[in-house]
Amino acid sequence: MKVIVIGGGPAGLTAAYELAKNGQEVLVFEKDSQVGGISKTINYKGYLFDLGGHRFFTKFPEVQKIWQEVLPNDFLTRPRLSRIYYRGKFFYYPIKPFNALWNLGPLTASSSVFSYFKARLKPYPNPTSFEEWVVNQFGRQLYEIFFKTYTEKVWGVPCQQISADWAAQRIQGLSLITAVLNAFGLTGKQKVRTLIDEFQYPRKGPGQFWETTAEAIQSYGGKVELRSEAVEINVKSADDFLVKINHNGSLEEIKADAIISSMPLSELILSLRPYPPQDVIQAARRLSYRDFFTVGLVVNKENIFPDNWIYIHSPEIKAGRLQNFKNWNPEMVPDLATTSLGLEFFCFASDPAWTQPENNLIDMASEDLVNLNFAQREDIADAVVIRVPKAYPVYLPDYQANVKIIKDYLGKLPGLQTIGRNGLHRYNNQDHSMMTGLYAAWNLKGQNHSVWDVNAEEEYHEIQRD
Ligand SMILES: Cc1cc2nc3c(=O)[nH]c(=O)nc-3n(C[C@H](O)[C@H](O)[C@H](O)COP(=O)(O)OP(=O)(O)OC[C@H]3O[C@@H](n4cnc5c(N)ncnc54)[C@H](O)[C@@H]3O)c2cc1C
Repeated sequence: MKVIVIGGGPAGLTAAYELAKNGQEVLVFEKDSQVGGISKTINYKGYLFDLGGHRFFTKFPEVQKIWQEVLPNDFLTRPRLSRIYYRGKFFYYPIKPFNALWNLGPLTASSSVFSYFKARLKPYPNPTSFEEWVVNQFGRQLYEIFFKTYTEKVWGVPCQQISADWAAQRIQGLSLITAVLNAFGLTGKQKVRTLIDEFQYPRKGPGQFWETTAEAIQSYGGKVELRSEAVEINVKSADDFLVKINHNGSLEEIKADAIISSMPLSELILSLRPYPPQDVIQAARRLSYRDFFTVGLVVNKENIFPDNWIYIHSPEIKAGRLQNFKNWNPEMVPDLATTSLGLEFFCFASDPAWTQPENNLIDMASEDLVNLNFAQREDIADAVVIRVPKAYPVYLPDYQANVKIIKDYLGKLPGLQTIGRNGLHRYNNQDHSMMTGLYAAWNLKGQNHSVWDVNAEEEYHEIQRD
């Protein structure tokens, strides 16, 4: 059997690793010039930039086993410190109730409690949007302080247009607000869940793990081809495919008995020949994605702030989050007298910001940094812009109905499996994506796992912030 894997991100590489390790002929096609997908690490003049900051944590023993197998000596356990910046104040996240109360001040703290009771007495009867769900849960004032601005920065649409599913999936037992309310004794039996205060991290960022995985696949006889984009998939029968690959401009057709694809679900559907029925194509066209870019700044200062990352809730600062890579691991920075930061901006690829010249984006990031009082312009020594298309599958109110139409259609093509984050249009972390890759590989050996069930029911570790 010849298996083609589309995409050299966590999902595709894990599927290929499992197959190659078991002697299966496997070929990975990755359109980018490096592996890792949105979990890759960019090396800019020796400064290592992680796109977003990727903690490694998992509840799946199978995933943990692969982490140890691939990188036995280079996984570090790192401490976590992260805070929320809101109107000039830093709130610890995970919450430290007294710090939160102190920062809110007695007036806001008590009016938040009042607003909470108001929402509890007169809740939205059937909350369908993110806003209604959160207001019902925490009251309007706390929603506006701690949810609205950050969520709208991340998603770029008003919270009324974001599905309540999003809140229900990601904001479970724990939030800053729950903890504040706990401090007032208002949440009854609800317990603040244990939070992750440390995490695993490859010595040189997540890319190190994915590059080593790609090497392992090749050492087992598999192939990983970069700058190779799958542009068309001809389905001859359930186990006979012809895949058109664009290798940097030159086209090649390759036969496969089975395909495991981690390309975005919408693109997969549109690449199929013969074309799927109109309703499936329409469903694919209705799926939407959020993009983002990181402006990496090298600052001539040894210490700027102690956090791994800071969430920026204040609307006057355009960045949504700020990473300090030295605090993830000092080896991310070649010169310890300097600090490398990643200022993250969420946008759509159709926004003017996406196509702005790099200098404008660097200017915008530098201005944010100065306004946050972390540095002066003259401290900024160098900068790089990294664009990350389709970073987030968007949970629009109709996304589940659209995904179901596509899922039902793909169910009729057993030799073609879709996996991963955008491949399933689900907000997966690396470990979820890896698990879907493992399931797909095991299915080819005759097992029967549903990739759609990964990360569907599972309780999440903390609230929605990634
Ligand atoms: C800001 C941010 C922070 C995050 N933080 C964490 C974290 O702390 N911990 C964590 O575990 N996860 C985190 N994640 C999630 C993690 O990045 C993803 O879960 C993971 O990368 C998904 O892997 P994937 O293989 O499913 O998809 P991707 O990483 O998107 O990989 C898909 C790959 O397919 C390739 N591809 C697409 N189309 C084609 C085609 N037609 N032909 C060939 N190749 C193609 C792409 O180039 C890409 O390399 C974060 C994500 C973001 C955006």
